[in-house]
Formats: sequence, structure tokens, C-alpha cells
Amino acid sequence: MFESLTSKLQNAFRHLRGMGKLTEANMADALREVRIALLDADVHYKVARDFLDRVKAKALGQEVIQSVQPGQQVIKIIYDELVALLGTIHADLDLGGNPASILMVGLHGSGKTTTSGKLARLLHKQGRQPLLVAADVYRPAAMDQLETLGRQLGIPTYAPRGEKDVLAIARGALDFARSHNRNVLIFDTAGRLQIDEPLVQELVRLRDLVHPREILLVLDAATGQEAVNVATHFDQALHITGAILTKLDGDARGGAALSFRAVVGKPIKFVGTGEKLDDLEPFHPERMASRILGMGDIVSLVEKAAEAVSLEDARRLEEKLRKGQFTLEDFLQQLRQMRKLGPLENIMKLLPGGDEALQQIDLAQQEKELRRMEAILCAMTPQERRQPHILNASRRFRIARGSGVTVREVNDLLKKFNQMQEMMKKMGRFQKLMARMGGRM
Ligand code: GDP
Repeated sequence: MFESLTSKLQNAFRHLRGMGKLTEANMADALREVRIALLDADVHYKVARDFLDRVKAKALGQEVIQSVQPGQQVIKIIYDELVALLGTIHADLDLGGNPASILMVGLHGSGKTTTSGKLARLLHKQGRQPLLVAADVYRPAAMDQLETLGRQLGIPTYAPRGEKDVLAIARGALDFARSHNRNVLIFDTAGRLQIDEPLVQELVRLRDLVHPREILLVLDAATGQEAVNVATHFDQALHITGAILTKLDGDARGGAALSFRAVVGKPIKFVGTGEKLDDLEPFHPERMASRILGMGDIVSLVEKAAEAVSLEDARRLEEKLRKGQFTLEDFLQQLRQMRKLGPLENIMKLLPGGDEALQQIDLAQQEKELRRMEAILCAMTPQERRQPHILNASRRFRIARGSGVTVREVNDLLKKFNQMQEMMKKMGRFQKLMARMGGRM
């Protein structure tokens, strides 16, 4: 996500690090680079200009904090201003109304249908009963696409084929929702290649019938500033309540994300980060700012982990580690839980400096290594995993054959595991010692 912007900003920051005293002159180089980085990312020029004016004013006016280097202070100011630019706080969906209605609008190909499905899935996970409504009367294929998504997700879809009147579809959907206890309606509306008057008229009529609390504009982030122009038009015509930026995983440069709020004045509520149905994330300005500055997004990583791992499991594991009772069985479980977090690349990207690290390590090789370890562990019996000391030569030979590796690779894994266990035991003893010393003091 925004790799090029991140690396340019980090370069700009190199000028700032270690700076003793800030003056307009010695900040100029760094701020010029920040400006170029923003413009290259397709940020609206006025947004970039105002942004830098604010940073400069704050940096020159700030009190010097003794313990912090002035350059670091500027980086903090840039971070704060980025957060403000992105909207400061996370804007939740308004799901008031019975049923609640969400109108998904946007140009053709922006990701409207896919995102309707993703949103339905997210709301369903939060305990809501969504209904997907196919309100595109021009493309029968759009109805099919939504229905297929609904089926995949196990969420009902209202798609009355052949119905040419959007308002009739809306009335039908509202009736269906009431009779089937669905409490959130997600309307996937028609898209065009460009916004035009007939489309606007139709959406306005639909809005005036349904009275949605949310009109979400789905925008392809890869189209940069153009996305912001489109947004301005849609907002003038419909008064949108927010946006969902899609395709942030692709070659989006950041311009749309950074300009949207300042130009349109509405919040970004979600971002689409992939083609899969769970690739939709609530938009958090401070987390996005951290990611843009290459500081990682630990909060999102921890949330992902919390979804994949129960707190109870984590506690049990910690206890085992401390007591040196961590077995190969636990190791296998760990590997599997890590898999649930998704590909290594996605995890790395959320870590501070992860993008840079990604350029240096061979990810495919790492993935292969993890798969090999999992295969070896799976070829063992549960008893062998619980009591690795019984793994004699003939057992190791059997495991190697069963997992398609050499005996040496099995030995390597066991050696690594032993080293890890030794280290854990030492750490456990160290912790106990520290605790006792702390108690005495
Ligand atoms: P619509 O015409 O606006 O309904 O657009 P679709 O939902 O059909 O999406 C158009 C294409 O964009 C499809 O191939 C989707 O899989 C893809 N797409 C949608 N959202 C994302 C995203 O967040 N990331 C990526 N990589 N692709 C996406």
C-alpha cells in the first residue's frame, strides 16, 4: 500500500534526523521533498500546499522539547497533520432506522458489487441480518454477480430479474426485509462509466423513497485525483455520507486517500484491500498515517491476531513457554494460527519497517520453509509431537518419507526446536529472577 509514497517520505525524513535546531532554511530541503512526494502520489496540489503550510507553521512555532530532537518533532507534526488530513477519527456507519438502509453508489468497475458483498459479510459478523439488494436494472449480469456473492456468503439477495423499475425493486426489498427479519439493506445500485444526469435522477428517486442513513460512494483508489473529482460530483448530486476506497492493495499511490476528506469534506469509512470477501477494513486515520509513514500498523495486526487466536489459547501458550513445556504439538498449532492471519506478506506490511524488510527477504522462500515445517510436523504422530525425545532414527526416516523431505531437514527442524526451547527456559528463569529481585526491592 502506497509503497512509493512511504519510501519518498522516509527519504525526506533523513534530512530531518539529527538536526540540532530548526530554521526555515534547514527545514526547506526536507519539506520540499515531502511536497514532491505528495504531488507524485497524486495528492491535490492545494491539499499538499495547505498541508505543508500547516506543518511549517507548527514546526517553527513549536516549543523545543529538551528530550526530543527537533527533527523528530517535525516528523511527529507531519504524522499529526496526516491524521488530521485523513479525518482524525474513525467514522462509524449509521445503522439507525428499521430496517437500516445503505445505498452503495459509484462508477462502473469501482468495486461496488464486490464491496456490497464485503460489507454484508462484515455486518453479518457483527451480528446484523443484512439483505443484499440488486438495484441495477440495466445489467442482468450485475444481478447474477450479486446473487453469486450472496450465495457464497450465505446472505440472502433480493434480485427480481426482469424488473425494470428501481423503485419497485426498492419497495419489494423493503417488504422482503420485513417478512424475513433482515435489519440492514445494502442496495447495489447501477454504475456508469461516467456520472450522468439520468443516473443521478434515478439515484435521487431511490434515495427519496428509501431514506438511507448511509449513501456510500465506492471509489477506485487507483484513479487518484480523478476519484476525488468523481466524488465531488456524486456529493453535489446526492449528498453522500462517506466513501469506501477500493483497491488499496493495488497500485494506488495515495492521492485519493489523502485528498478525499479535504476536498469533499466527508469521511472515508472503509477501505478495500483485496479481491477476497474479507478484504475490507474500517478506515482509521491514525493507523493509515502510521502505515503511510512506514511505522507499521500494530493495532490492526493485533486485531487480526485476536480474530484468529483466542485469548485463552494465547495465555495457555505463554504459560507453557514459561515453564518450558512447549511441545512440537504447540509448535504445529502456532504455525496453523499464523496461517489464519493470511499470507506472510500481509503480516509483514503491518509491521514497522515491514515494507523495507519485504524488499530484502525472499518471501516465497519463507513461505516454502513454513509449509515444509508444517508438512514435517503433520507427518509425526501426536505422541511424537508431544514427546519429541522418542524420535529415533527409524521414526525420523519415516517422517522424512511421509513429508517428502530429507532426514537432514527433519533433523534441522528438531535442532531449531531444541534451541528455541532452551532459550525459552532461560527466559523463564530470567523472568523469575527479575520478579524475585523486584519483590525484594
Ligand atoms: P462494480 O462494477 O463497481 O460493481 O465493480 P465490481 O464489484 O464488479 O469490481 C470490479 C473489479 O474490481 C472486480 O474484478 C473486483 O474483484 C475488483 N475489486 C473490487 N474491490 C477490490 C479491492 O479492494 N482490491 C482489488 N485488488 N480488487 C478489487
